[in-house]
Amino acid sequence: MKQTRFPRISLPASCCRLVSFQRSRQFTKILLDGIVTDVEKQNLVGADMEEIEALISEMGEAPFRARQIFAAIYSRRIRNWDDLTDLGKTLRAKLKDCSAIGYPPAERVFESQDGTRRYLFAVPPAQKIESVFIPEERRDTFCISTQVGCAVECLFCVTGKLPLRRNLTAGEIVGQVLALLADRGTLPKRLNIVIMGMGEPLHNYDNVMKAIRLITDKRGLSLSPRRITLSTSGIVPGIQRLAAEPVIPNLAISLNATTDKVRDVLIPINRKWNIATLVDACREFPLEKRRRITFEYVLIEGVNDTPEDARRLVGLLRGLKKKVNLIPLNADPWIPLKTPSDERVLAFQKILVDHHITAYIRRPRGEDVSAACGMLAGREQPRGDPVQRPPKPAKPAALAKLEIRTR
Ligand code: SAH
Ligand code: SF4
Repeated sequence: MKQTRFPRISLPASCCRLVSFQRSRQFTKILLDGIVTDVEKQNLVGADMEEIEALISEMGEAPFRARQIFAAIYSRRIRNWDDLTDLGKTLRAKLKDCSAIGYPPAERVFESQDGTRRYLFAVPPAQKIESVFIPEERRDTFCISTQVGCAVECLFCVTGKLPLRRNLTAGEIVGQVLALLADRGTLPKRLNIVIMGMGEPLHNYDNVMKAIRLITDKRGLSLSPRRITLSTSGIVPGIQRLAAEPVIPNLAISLNATTDKVRDVLIPINRKWNIATLVDACREFPLEKRRRITFEYVLIEGVNDTPEDARRLVGLLRGLKKKVNLIPLNADPWIPLKTPSDERVLAFQKILVDHHITAYIRRPRGEDVSAACGMLAGREQPRGDPVQRPPKPAKPAALAKLEIRTR
């Protein structure tokens, strides 16, 4: 029989059960209550149907029970086996003995003036990850993390200043979605999930794909893959693997430059998979009807924001089904780069639009609480706090190579 392996959560003596979120404008704290237990339990968040079936069969229970448990975790989103009254007391007791439904605990929630909420989750061993809830007029978006830190080390990204500590498990990735849903109370009408938080998702391929399968599973959360967007810095073998998956999310490529000279400095993995190789992989990527690839382009003053860059971008993307998201750099004391002026951003957009490319300018959300793109670093303090310094500051040599052009 297949061995079942679940992430284990250990519940120490001063064990924590999430009781309630207590809200204030600045942050939300989770209260812990003191259930005393010291057994190691299997966390079933992140387990798929096959794994739950195996567990149920080890318990000598009927296979259909697995479906009930799966639906209870992902669709009904119960937190406590006692709430699953249709299972019967004996099975509930068995489940309680060996397993739990554990979400990553939110240590704090920072709320922005624009309604965006940044969640700071604790993950073992003593690490922090972040997720962001972004309310919009016609939809709500959850932005979730896939790694603690990131190995890609993009010059413009605060997450890239953190060393990669580890990959998140599938349970920790789905757990962020479940925790945000629990905090929202109800399933938002049009929920989008963007895998654009901390980390490079294609460096944690198997766990990210398992999480996507769980989120889209019709017997559970049942979110359409069209509502999920995976953003990558351009890990070409990962894009090729993704192309062959039965469940494919929307693909977003963080292009961010139009010459290898600049991209090599901004996104070091470009030296392995350059722009031409990356764009070729995009051309091969299968797209269903009415689907297109999103190209993200962070605009950095004097680095990649010239009219020539815009025209080169038009040429690079010719023939692709695409849209472009222009993201004016979110500036931060940890990043030695500047945001271009509005005129420069609009001029860049105009060149794309004049060449019939759909190009949106993405305005930052949750900027005041460090929740905007590229700002996630598990920081407790508000942005700009001089006490916090990047663990890996940018090397002056990299900046010199960029030959930043001033106007
Ligand atoms: N690692 C993945 C997903 C996380 S980064 C990737 O790189 O695609 C999510 C997005 O934030 C990327 O498009 C990235 O280019 C953008 N980003 C990073 N730092 C930024 C910054 N300082 N300002 C604006 N966008 C930034
Ligand atoms: Fe990692 Fe993405 Fe940030 Fe680059 S932009 S350092 S790939 S999280």
